[in-house]
Amino acid sequence: MAKSIKDLDLHGKRVFIRVDFNVPLASGGQEITSDKRIRASLPTIQYALDQGAAVILASHLGRPKGKPNPEMSMKPVGAKLAELLGRPVKVAPDCIGREVEAMLPKPGQVLLLENLRFHPEEEANDPGFSKHLAKLADVYVNDAFGSAHRAHASTVGMIQFVPQAPAGLLMDQELKYLGMATKHPERPCIALLGGAKVSDKIEVIENLAKIVDRLLIGGAMAYTFLKAEGLPTGKSLVEEDKVELAKKLLAEMGPKIVLPSDHVVASEFKAGAEHETVKEIPADKMALDIGEKTIEEYANIIKGAKTIIWNGPMGVFEMPPFDRGTVALAKAVADSGAVSVVGGGDSEKAIKSAGVTSKITHVSTGGGASLEFLSGIELPGVAALANK
Ligand code: AMP
Repeated sequence: MAKSIKDLDLHGKRVFIRVDFNVPLASGGQEITSDKRIRASLPTIQYALDQGAAVILASHLGRPKGKPNPEMSMKPVGAKLAELLGRPVKVAPDCIGREVEAMLPKPGQVLLLENLRFHPEEEANDPGFSKHLAKLADVYVNDAFGSAHRAHASTVGMIQFVPQAPAGLLMDQELKYLGMATKHPERPCIALLGGAKVSDKIEVIENLAKIVDRLLIGGAMAYTFLKAEGLPTGKSLVEEDKVELAKKLLAEMGPKIVLPSDHVVASEFKAGAEHETVKEIPADKMALDIGEKTIEEYANIIKGAKTIIWNGPMGVFEMPPFDRGTVALAKAVADSGAVSVVGGGDSEKAIKSAGVTSKITHVSTGGGASLEFLSGIELPGVAALANK
């Protein structure tokens, strides 16, 4: 188990916090369209400052491919962070080197390093680069759950060169709830899996089937399973090359897997398209959402659950009215009183559009990282902290 930032004395120390400030940008990198990732690490930053630490923050931003790129500079992030913290934030011109070393913060001050990925050595997990980063820190803290599935210099490499490496408060929360849901869940424990493709989530399905009592499948993914059962799928999205795999999963996991029993179908993939609810998908139509009866069946199972893991929408939730199943189940999850853990990305958007975010126990900030966690893979960034 990783230590927590709360286990250490940070007073007067230079605390290097690896954060995930990989925010969405517009206007050539000048405008931050969502500050959610910055807000997510505020408690850790504020905690370190309150303890009397000097704070150095480091993150990647976008995919600059190992070269400086002004459109992916951390400068706008620094300005946003200063506004949110209510104190000045200096942004260094680089993340390593003499210029940065000359700017090191004093207790109570915050220095944000320039984009780590301006150096190809970051993603290559280069030991020399890792050493340069480590030189800046008395204590290394990892709060970047969203990057924990990557073995890079700032998430893994530099840890061997620092004396201490605890988890930040956000990382701690993520590990606590994802760990609780997958390692010692209160039962019945169910998972709600949706989204576009079986192929993206094979490992998640295989691993969750070992853990949960019921696995409710929705989204386009369901039609590959229906095809595997020999049922008609019309023009719905089916991954033909995954039908055999779906057959195998159904054979192995049998009654644990629950599939939709009715479907909202349309002739066109379009918001507001003419639609109807059917039990059997007609040859000339595509299924774009789970039907009324399925909503009721799934909501009933959700109601009886004590732990719920959710990843992926139940239908094309970006295009009303095909958001109905996803929104209805988001409400059912929120009202269930169960411990609910929702993966990032589209599932998060779905609970937001249902207006129930505050009733969800934990919404993960890491899309890829939370999927890997749910697949049972040990995240390299987490393993590195635990081994320290
Ligand atoms: P994922 O990123 O794998 O969670 O997939 C999310 C995407 O799956 C969203 O863009 C949904 O619109 C899409 N999706 C969900 N259900 C369906 C469906 N029945 N047909 C086509 N796309 C779907």
